[in-house]
Amino acid sequence: MTTVQDPRSDAAPAGEDRPTFEVRNPGTGDLVGTWPVQSEAEVEETVARARLAAEWWAEIGYAERRKRLDAFRGVIARRIHQLAHLVHDEMGKPHSDAFLEVALVLDHLAWAGKHAPKVLGQERRSTGLINANLKATVEHHPLGVIGVIGPWNYPVFTPMGSIVYALAGGNAVVFKPSEFTPGVGAWLVAAFAEVVPEHPVLQLVTGDGSTGAALCRAGVDKVAFTGSTATAKRVMATCAETLTPLVAECGGKDALIVDRDADLAAAADGAVWGGIANAGQTCIGVERIYVHQDVAAELARLLVERFDDLRAGADPAAAVGPITMPSQVRIIDQHVADAKAAGGRVLAGGAPTQGQVVQPTLLTDVPEDCAAVAEETFGPTLVLRAVRDMDEAVTLTNASRYHLGASVYGKADAERVARRIRSGMVSVNSVLAFAIVPTVPFGGVGDSGFGRIHGEEGLKEFCYSHSVVRQRWKAPLPLTSFARTAKHEETLGKIIALLHGGK
Ligand code: NDP
Repeated sequence: MTTVQDPRSDAAPAGEDRPTFEVRNPGTGDLVGTWPVQSEAEVEETVARARLAAEWWAEIGYAERRKRLDAFRGVIARRIHQLAHLVHDEMGKPHSDAFLEVALVLDHLAWAGKHAPKVLGQERRSTGLINANLKATVEHHPLGVIGVIGPWNYPVFTPMGSIVYALAGGNAVVFKPSEFTPGVGAWLVAAFAEVVPEHPVLQLVTGDGSTGAALCRAGVDKVAFTGSTATAKRVMATCAETLTPLVAECGGKDALIVDRDADLAAAADGAVWGGIANAGQTCIGVERIYVHQDVAAELARLLVERFDDLRAGADPAAAVGPITMPSQVRIIDQHVADAKAAGGRVLAGGAPTQGQVVQPTLLTDVPEDCAAVAEETFGPTLVLRAVRDMDEAVTLTNASRYHLGASVYGKADAERVARRIRSGMVSVNSVLAFAIVPTVPFGGVGDSGFGRIHGEEGLKEFCYSHSVVRQRWKAPLPLTSFARTAKHEETLGKIIALLHGGK
């Protein structure tokens, strides 16, 4: 049994007179750590420290920030197994999946540090004919202090999607990790402090929802929230009290569409990995499959074959780990039970749940209004449905209230189908590919949230645009002056008629 404490002093050790919470390994039940529930006053003090650090961090400029972010990347890369081990201990995913999760962050760190100056730095804009005497520039300034509230399912990759881009943009960050994964948050903060020892540019606050709410109220300049849609609504209401802007990365119910000319083996592989990896606890995890009726039987056969090889367990040999949150187990079981009661059939898996270990399950013939199709299951289940054609596949995909990601497998029409899907991102002939490409924005529509992390959009999300328009010489027409005469207006009228009067 190991007890991990925040190695930095920002989160003071749990004292006798302050509330604490425990983190237990979901597979073994072992105590992994005990952490303080930080109070509103402590969160405010942390944000006040961050504000001073933000000034220094903004001041040192892009080149120095890039150097520090590269050094941070180096620390993570060299200690990747240590961090992966901690992820496994706290939230239960197999070590190799945790290793992959951490590895995928490194490209984002490299990209954001390198491209921040070009994306955010000063840029000349045209002023138009009438304003030819003006020179216009736009640049993006850091907002200041960003509060990042993260989930537990990808406790490194997901919050880092905000943290990295916020830091590269010149902001300080106060990070409130999920109460299931505070140790991972503390590890990241401590590793960053090794390469940025001067000021607390990245800090940690630990606790439950009340600590997250305190962070929203603490005067941060933006909140980057990742979590469920239900919590996002509460976070948004809290942020509204202080007009604090918000990025909301919420839940999903992603569909995978398979056309009749698709490589079916690849589609089956993608569906099973995209749906079952991380025990299905992935916001952009595949939860629904819509397959062209001509190839539905063959795809079902390939899926069943792959399901038969999969086993969930808490032991190191299991490809699928336990469910992290005890309360989620009941929801997953309920979705499967409701689907069966409504006429759904179990094509593969479906063995009874034991403790927090839920076996992968493939369902079919499930009505579209069942929770297993309409709600986020967040477990190792997939629902398969044959469709008449790609029109029906797109209609059913878009009928959800969630619009986060999607995948399309096919040849001739795959990209056309992808463009018709209402979602932030689509992978074609692969799954989740959009999350690992640092240049493309990541985020949802509808109940999946708003705002973007990753890419140029992710850098700009944590900055405000700042325009400077300079008069280089006196305007021939004094438009913004009381010196404007009837003659000037007549000239302006002629120019307007020429420029805009048109056909
Ligand atoms: P939750 O919504 O339960 O929690 C998310 C974070 O919000 C946690 O740190 C939580 O703290 C905190 N929180 C809870 N209540 C409040 C509050 N009132 N004010 C401020 N903060 C609060 O989500 P989960 O952690 O269970 O994560 C799973 C969800 O996240 C799924 O719906 C998944 O789809 C979504 N997700 C979305 C992603 C995306 O990019 N779109 C990526 C990854 C996950 P605490 O844990 O201490 O209660």
